[in-house]
Amino acid sequence: MDLETLEHIARQLDPDAPQRASLASYVMEYAERHWSGVEGALAFVQQSHPGAGLAEHAFREEGRPISEVLSILEREVDTPGAHGGSGRHFAFIPPSTQIAGALGDYLAASTNKYAGYFFAGPGAVRMENLLLHWMARELGFPQGTHGNLPAGGSLAHIIGICAAREAAGFKAADTPKICVYLSDQAHHCIAKALRVAGLGEARLRVIASDDHFRMRMDRLQAAIQQDVAAGNRPWLLAPTAGTTNSGAVDPLEECAHIAARYGLWMHTDGAYGAFFALCEEGKQRLVGQHQSDSLVADPHKGLFCPFGIGAVLVKHLDPLRRAHAYAADYLPTPPDDLNELSPTESTLEFSKHARALRLWLPLMLFGVSPFRAALEEKLRLAQYAWEKLQSLKGFDPVAAPQLSVMAFRLLPPSGDPDAFQQDLLANLYREGRVFLSSTRLGDRLCLRLAVLALRTHREHVDEAIDCLARAYKQAITN
Ligand SMILES: *Cc1c(COP(=O)(O)O)cnc(C)c1O
Repeated sequence: MDLETLEHIARQLDPDAPQRASLASYVMEYAERHWSGVEGALAFVQQSHPGAGLAEHAFREEGRPISEVLSILEREVDTPGAHGGSGRHFAFIPPSTQIAGALGDYLAASTNKYAGYFFAGPGAVRMENLLLHWMARELGFPQGTHGNLPAGGSLAHIIGICAAREAAGFKAADTPKICVYLSDQAHHCIAKALRVAGLGEARLRVIASDDHFRMRMDRLQAAIQQDVAAGNRPWLLAPTAGTTNSGAVDPLEECAHIAARYGLWMHTDGAYGAFFALCEEGKQRLVGQHQSDSLVADPHKGLFCPFGIGAVLVKHLDPLRRAHAYAADYLPTPPDDLNELSPTESTLEFSKHARALRLWLPLMLFGVSPFRAALEEKLRLAQYAWEKLQSLKGFDPVAAPQLSVMAFRLLPPSGDPDAFQQDLLANLYREGRVFLSSTRLGDRLCLRLAVLALRTHREHVDEAIDCLARAYKQAITN
């Protein structure tokens, strides 16, 4: 093929203005159907072989019309499974969709500003830093706190843990003596982050939790003292500010005291819960959080962003940079102004898109106060849900909401309670009106109800209670 022909074909990747307008109008219309359909849509769609039809549409040498492509997307991807933005999504940690976050992503991808390195994308880098400094201020962290906006909480944990590792200055031979303390309710991604950070051999001290699923401080102290006496090296204390299982908040203030007394780095997992501190009510429940050396928080949970944005705040810039910063011949010298630290100096990513836009845009357009109100609303709704659950037949409380997650069972008149919870869930999934999930607390299989979707309001909680009552009736007559 001659160059001209190649150019002619290659230019298909770069449509002209009328073609762009046409494509965009299809996509915007499709998205608008999502927004206007959210209220009526099922929260969960159960299918056999969900999404399997995707593979039947192999990539061809020639493209397809957008209408056909969007109908494949709708059928195979956007229909089956959990709804991404339903107010009746109460499972796991519920996700949210919101127009400004989505448009922020659209803008970030359209202009494609580089957010990795100050020299190439100064504005995009400043935007990320601005958001991190805003979070630090809101959550009570001191000036000079830095961090990063990676793709999610799990990656944020790796960043924080690598910084803590650098601060301790371990030698290879130390590893088997290093001790990490977390509760039996901690998220698995902390152990995973340790392994990825090369500390898989460190001793994980899994501290028992109390009746409210909070880390027991007496057990923590005893474990640390035992390790000191045995010549081990207590290093990291990783409490959770809102567990995934039941929303429990470890005693953060006491954790901070203990961390200070024994010289531990306090690395707090607030992936789900940290941003509740944006409202007064939540702040009171998260006392001590700001004393952490590093904190993980997830804007794609607590700030209602689309999936793909986590945050880590780190009080100590030096070890954060030691863990991540590199110089290379093909890069300009980093600027001296560490206030505008380039994100590449505090994460694994290099070619980084301006994901900050998905948070910056909603904050700019709507202001902070709707976020505070939404978070306080979710805390109140959780209390409301807990009260309403009491009226259900067979209600067995397991974990009252400390933030906005609760766990409970509906006990059958007779028979195996665990199997009965499975039946209840199967009934709920078949109907799909509301989406709940389960967990194991102690030796009991429990239902979990988590309130954090942006669109969850009182009527949706009411509907969840109605659905549970209906599922119960079905389960006892089966
Ligand atoms: C969601 C969650 C994580 C993991 O964060 P991702 O953003 O899913 O990677 C860690 N800890 C807790 C408590 C969580 O709820």
